[in-house]
Amino acid sequence: MSDCLFCKIIAGEIPSVCLYQDDAIYVFKDIAPKAEVHLLVVPKQHIATLNELKLLDETVIARLMLQLPELAAAQGIPQGYRTIINCGKEGGQVVFHLHIHLLGGKNLPGF
Ligand code: 5GP
Ligand code: ZN
Repeated sequence: MSDCLFCKIIAGEIPSVCLYQDDAIYVFKDIAPKAEVHLLVVPKQHIATLNELKLLDETVIARLMLQLPELAAAQGIPQGYRTIINCGKEGGQVVFHLHIHLLGGKNLPGF
């Protein structure tokens, strides 16, 4: 998607602090962190929202989820963290490229 912010970040057209990537996943620091640790875990494939996920994408979503413990451990928060997926404008989604927020560290507020 040529007009998608996260596709541009994945392509390296917009700079980001990348912490991990492989053939399917790109992980980078959120530009406006809401917690001490705030990473965005995104599929390299453009999927706009959770509602656009297809059964064929099951491997991608599994890969994203399965990467989270390792990412949390690398950030020094293996014992506890929060994950959020906002879906749609009504759900607070601002960037329409599916992403998992990984949040943690000191002073993580109650939910
Ligand atoms: P959403 O509200 O769509 O679930 O979350 C979008 C997230 O993307 C927000 O937490 C926001 O701070 C982050 N974000 C927006 N633009 C950029 C950017 O250009 N670079 C990075 N690293 N994060 C961004
Ligand atoms: Zn995209």
